[in-house]
Amino acid sequence: MKQFIAIDVGGTKIAVGVGSEDGVLGAAKFIATNVTWSQGQVLDEVAGVVRDLRQAAQLGPDDVTWVGLGTPGPLDGPILLAASNLHGWQGLNWQTGLESRLGLSVAVANDATAAGLGEWLYGGGRGTKDCLYVTVSTGIGAGIVTNGRLYVGARGNAGEFGHIVMKPDGAVCAAGHRGCLETLASGTAIRRDARERQGNSPYLSQLAAIETKDVFAGYVKGDQVCQDIVDQAADHLALGLSYLVDLFNPEVIVLGGGVGTHAPQAYWQRLEQGISTWALPALAQAVRLVPAQLGEDSGLLGALAVAVMAQRHQTV
Ligand SMILES: [Zn+2]
Repeated sequence: MKQFIAIDVGGTKIAVGVGSEDGVLGAAKFIATNVTWSQGQVLDEVAGVVRDLRQAAQLGPDDVTWVGLGTPGPLDGPILLAASNLHGWQGLNWQTGLESRLGLSVAVANDATAAGLGEWLYGGGRGTKDCLYVTVSTGIGAGIVTNGRLYVGARGNAGEFGHIVMKPDGAVCAAGHRGCLETLASGTAIRRDARERQGNSPYLSQLAAIETKDVFAGYVKGDQVCQDIVDQAADHLALGLSYLVDLFNPEVIVLGGGVGTHAPQAYWQRLEQGISTWALPALAQAVRLVPAQLGEDSGLLGALAVAVMAQRHQTV
């Protein structure tokens, strides 16, 4: 079976793997992300790992033709713009840089977009044609599949769901504007609210430091402050999701990221209630909300899905 190279670029590490069209990953290698590397060094390092893996897997020149790469955005096509955790690499062109070093075709996608494509092809959205993936962790992002194709927009950045403004006079987000969904419903927002209200919470006031998972634990133990904070975050997210439901009429919304994975059952019920309340009834009834299935492999499987789709359509 034809093999593909998957590259998942993250703020702390870059994972490179070999995989097949049916979503089975073989060998993988990891290198620590070093933002002091020049752009040429980054490309040389990554290309070197790809060559090592091809050799180790005894892949000949015809066994691999496509590389898929997922990277934090924002992007301008295949070019990295000012990603908040990859400062020194602004302007890096992953596509031409790796194509010239490897002699393979390279397709590049924003990481949430890639993860969404992976969940659609191999995870919670499998078998559907219209699937939205939403990741809620320190930030919030989305990947959009409509009619069996990835929707990336004019320059590859569609799906910046976390930055839709819900409250124009609200808190400032990491990207520097006010009141977006990330400031209201991300793990960062839940943790911030919990720290502000720690003194009023019997559960949180015993803790020396508060992480998002502590707020979920307090929720399950019946702490009122924790429940208020999580319920509010869920309501804001559900309102945002209802906009997506009305816009895209998806069959399924796959929810992933640390918050989606660790939140209590009541959080999911609240999301479903909110979507039913705020989206149009016919569209709300048509959509299923399901947890992401790919877990720790979501980055590499997303990049693999980017490569597989690129081979099918000769573009992402
Ligand atoms: Zn924002």
